[in-house]
Amino acid sequence: MKIDVLTLFPDMFKGVFESSILKRAQEIGAFQYRLIDFRHYTDDKHNKVDDYPYGGGAGMVLKPQPIFDAVDDVKSQTESTPRVVLLCPQGETFTQQKAEELAEEDHLILICGHYEGYDERIREQLVTDEISIGDYVLTGGELGAMVITDSVVRLQPQVLGNQESATKDSFSTRLLEHPHYTRPNDFRGLKVPEVLTSGNHQKIEEWRIYESLKRTYERRPDLLESANLSEQESKMLEEIKANHVETHG
Ligand code: SAM
Repeated sequence: MKIDVLTLFPDMFKGVFESSILKRAQEIGAFQYRLIDFRHYTDDKHNKVDDYPYGGGAGMVLKPQPIFDAVDDVKSQTESTPRVVLLCPQGETFTQQKAEELAEEDHLILICGHYEGYDERIREQLVTDEISIGDYVLTGGELGAMVITDSVVRLQPQVLGNQESATKDSFSTRLLEHPHYTRPNDFRGLKVPEVLTSGNHQKIEEWRIYESLKRTYERRPDLLESANLSEQESKMLEEIKANHVETHG
């Protein structure tokens, strides 16, 4: 997967893109990126990429020309048809489902805004997706571009050592993941649930499904509405609800 990031602050990316899984993904040829400073594309003699808003008001607006030219240039260098993603607090909220959808692409262009916002023509004409990473306002789109890149690249084949760990992550199963334990079995008197040391794989799997449903019910019941539960899972959920009423009234 190729990701081109259009940003005014390319230095922000090095630590994240050159460490951990993103680094490994490059080493095995699963990920390539370019950081493109779109200030280099401005035709303004003072190198400006922003301007005052028509109609007045606070803040500066990113001009269309540098961003249009940068995207055109990237597109002219490839035979693929990249998805063009605008980082924006007004966009669709980023989810694991969206990460899975973008992970199918072979080329993404991520546009990081700054200042008050974008000239609306960028939104209307240039982009295929507008993505927000949550209901809060950041100074720029760079952190969002890092979030998207990390979540999408770790889904590429062979990037994670154990493929199972991506498919069983929270949200990938439409539910939150079950709890994990590691050695020692007894830590300060706190014991690991017995089933996990029983060696009975079927019982362990059932325990994990039950705990995943329980955790989702307690923390994110909204996810259960679209979770498409199996018959076994629905029965477990009924049991969890009944136990919950018993314990919490
Ligand atoms: N005035 C804009 C508004 O109210 O929608 C906010 C602009 S914000 C200060 C500057 C840039 O940061 C945005 O253009 C966007 O690229 C990025 N940004 C801020 N919050 C974001 C979020 N939650 N998700 C993705 N990008 C965000």
